[in-house]
Amino acid sequence: MDAAEFRRRGKEMVDFVADYLENIEHRRVYPDVEPGYLRSMIPSEAPLEPESYEDVLRDVDRVIMPGITHWQSPHFHAYFPSASSYPALLGDMLCGGLGCIGFTWAASPACTELETVMLDWLGKMLQLPEDFLAGTQGQGGGVIQGTASEATLMALLAARCKTVKCVQESDPQRSEADIISKLIAYTSEEAHSSVERAGLIGGVVIRMVPTDDNFSVRAETLEKMVAEDKAAGFIPFFFCATLGTTPSCAFDQITELGPLCNAEKIWMHIDAAYAGSSFICPEFRPLLDGVEFADSFNFNPHKWLLVNFDCSTMWVKKRTDLIGAFKLDPVYLKYDNQESGLVTDYRHWGIPLGRRFRSLKMWFVFRMYGQSGLQAYIRKHVELAKVFETLVRKDKRFEISAEVVLGLVCFRLKGSDELNEALLKEMTRLGKIHLVPCKLRGRFVLRFAVCGRTTELRHVQEAWQHIAELSSELLQKHRS
Ligand code: PLP
Repeated sequence: MDAAEFRRRGKEMVDFVADYLENIEHRRVYPDVEPGYLRSMIPSEAPLEPESYEDVLRDVDRVIMPGITHWQSPHFHAYFPSASSYPALLGDMLCGGLGCIGFTWAASPACTELETVMLDWLGKMLQLPEDFLAGTQGQGGGVIQGTASEATLMALLAARCKTVKCVQESDPQRSEADIISKLIAYTSEEAHSSVERAGLIGGVVIRMVPTDDNFSVRAETLEKMVAEDKAAGFIPFFFCATLGTTPSCAFDQITELGPLCNAEKIWMHIDAAYAGSSFICPEFRPLLDGVEFADSFNFNPHKWLLVNFDCSTMWVKKRTDLIGAFKLDPVYLKYDNQESGLVTDYRHWGIPLGRRFRSLKMWFVFRMYGQSGLQAYIRKHVELAKVFETLVRKDKRFEISAEVVLGLVCFRLKGSDELNEALLKEMTRLGKIHLVPCKLRGRFVLRFAVCGRTTELRHVQEAWQHIAELSSELLQKHRS
């Protein structure tokens, strides 16, 4: 493909994507394929000779589209949203075109510098404490990680490193292996599995902290666990708080947990993967109160802030805690002005060396929506969730299972888990709307998340009508 063909095909591809997104609601949201469906549809080896673009595109329709779960459909209500917007898609296209890899400042100065400034812009939108911003002289700053899972892992590893150093300062004879074997991290029993996974990867014990009636971790509970562990000779070193848990969008009480962590020298990381985007609205910002006690904070603009995957933003108060933990300086990565102090090398902030120019899509989105456009987007989703909640509450066959704070509604048919499982199974079989379940206090609960950029009131009403009708059929069947 030469430049002339790329121009033509590129324009066609933009049309293809725009047509797809414009007409997405007419597709079945959940695919009707069986595991292994794809292998038999394409050859078992790559072609020896080049094929035509037409052939490739034909197979996109034939092979790929039948196996797509349409995350951008207004009928998609599963998990949490996966953000998408035209400005972000264009920013990403430019990123692919430039094809630069920004592991050091010198490897592509704009790539590094825009990232630092975008993280400051976003940090200011969230009203993060000044400590988390890089500015020109700050000790903190932000980085784009691929996912919230990576951010949690990086925070845990940095905390591990900091604690080992700290213990060895007072007890130089103690080996790193011995200290690590005594470390204990904590997170909510409602936290995302990625936190437990960070513990497994980081080789430290993670204890799950029980939650209160609102599925929130309280300081009193953590305090008791920390005291117990210290008395048994362990070293509490890390607590991952969640703002907006995956099952029910619950919020740990960080205003009381923060001071406890600070007093106990426990690194507090905040995982606000989904809910974080809402903090740009003044009315939801109180949910972030207590962030001033945290050592690190992360959320995913790629969930709810119209920036396509991947874009998980993480801030630290003292960037040397993170950078210093894993710093290596091979000669092929050195450059003039490396020690200017004016810029950072993002290769020190995460696991990969290579990194894409992801801040471009943030810049496009922030400028083309403006803060007011982004706030309006969040507010609309929250309002739609409230509409759905009201519809559920009006139907006496159902119950709401957790407080509805943002764009997620947890609900269930009054009755057995089996009944609710059967309802979800039927929804999935029909593929008109897509939801996933969760367990709350051991009970099977349905989660309705407002996800799509184009989800409107009518989609929410239609979704509810569909659920109510399926429930009537199901209850009728159970009675007869
Ligand atoms: N944390 C929370 C609270 C989540 O809800 C999720 C995913 O939904 C994650 C972490 C994992 O996100 P990621 O895919 O960015 O690792």
